Amino acid sequence: MVSFTIRNALIPVESGYQTVDVHLAGDGISAIGSSLEPLGEVVDGTNKLLLPGFVNAHTHSSEMWQRGRIPPFPLELWIAELYDGTPLDPEKIYLSALGTAVETLLSGGTSVVDHLVLIPGQELETIAAVVKAYQEVGIRAFIGPLIQDQSLTTSIPDGNTQQQHEPYYRNTADTLSLLKTAIAKFHNPEAGIHILAAPTGMQLCSDALFEGCVELSQQAQICCHTHLLETKAQQQLATEKYGCSAVEHLKHLGFLGPRTSLAHCVWLSDRDIEILAQTQSTVVHNPLSNLRLGSGIAPILKYRQAGVNVAFGCDGSASNDSQDLLEAIKIGSILHNITDFDYRHWITPRQAVEMAALGGAKGLNQQDRLGSLTVGKQADLVLYDLTQLSLLPQTDPIGLLILGRPVQVVHSAWVRGKRLVAAGKVTTIDVEALRQQLFEGSKDGGDRTSAMLAQVETHYRTVMGLNP
Ligand SMILES: [Zn+2]
Repeated sequence: MVSFTIRNALIPVESGYQTVDVHLAGDGISAIGSSLEPLGEVVDGTNKLLLPGFVNAHTHSSEMWQRGRIPPFPLELWIAELYDGTPLDPEKIYLSALGTAVETLLSGGTSVVDHLVLIPGQELETIAAVVKAYQEVGIRAFIGPLIQDQSLTTSIPDGNTQQQHEPYYRNTADTLSLLKTAIAKFHNPEAGIHILAAPTGMQLCSDALFEGCVELSQQAQICCHTHLLETKAQQQLATEKYGCSAVEHLKHLGFLGPRTSLAHCVWLSDRDIEILAQTQSTVVHNPLSNLRLGSGIAPILKYRQAGVNVAFGCDGSASNDSQDLLEAIKIGSILHNITDFDYRHWITPRQAVEMAALGGAKGLNQQDRLGSLTVGKQADLVLYDLTQLSLLPQTDPIGLLILGRPVQVVHSAWVRGKRLVAAGKVTTIDVEALRQQLFEGSKDGGDRTSAMLAQVETHYRTVMGLNP
């Protein structure tokens, strides 16, 4: 039974654009054609552009509480401030997941990868809080509980200073058992909730933790996700820790593969890029976070030329500081024009759309179900209103959507065939109430000074060769 007919919508085709009708039946796309019989609820697609939903392929929802607060710091110092100010109340985690889902939806995203910061001692409650939020909004969610088994100070290179590190409070076995419980309790793809095996990154995780994640991902058929070589300091740390590059080491541990997505990948060698291509791993590009933290410019054009799949992410709201996916896609496309004089290598708006939709789906092993307007695929779709001021005058719809500054352009959005946005408004939750709760919740954030920052800053400046 057809539940929606989208009539007269513009879709991109090889030769330009075509006006079509689309039937959504159950959770899927059941027909695309001209003059289809109007069945179910009819949505007028006239002067609107229909695209597959994008994937916000890397974020940390609870950072929303700290957005705009952390001063301009590199990752290693920024993270000290972040950790000391992380919300410790599952209700707050729930609200920031709602906020992340809403901002993602209203900027073209229908899936979100939440690399979720866990409240110590309330890990499962933290995951339950975001599952509840994502189910209520209806966005498709890939939740990677952020797990590590080494203390925060190990993430900065030693630089021959013989640093001593406090043991991390949860050991490897307990961490893996936590992940196993999370999979058993929450992994439910049919309901649009996926759990990922997502160690924080090589800077904070042991080999045993990575290997345990690989094993669990094979057993439960789930995807892997991690941060990889976001900063120059991490590149240096990998040499100290492994005596080879982090990419070579992760390959050796069996962590790379077509079901693995890697956030950032700023500091990779040409040999590392070859390894990502061979293993069919996905790079998640988070351009705004990389700029905000001064991490560098990921060699995205090189990845594309080597055949590495690339997706876009906003990254957490404390390093961006928004969840506007269209903004991340725009900057993530044009940023690279300054890295290669040959303009034929530059990312076109249509290629950016494909990276954001199909590229994102591939990194989550969902390319057969998501990422394109194809009959039989899931109905995760976004309808853009081409009559909004920021998309006028009408020129090339995709060109202006990607290169312009689109404001309030999402008219409708569907996930798993369910309509989540209609006439520009989220229909599944009370956004006005959310606005009020975020406002109320911001009062007790306070200006805390970070004890961790004082502990690591001197060492960081010494090791990185900066004036003490
Ligand atoms: Zn991140």
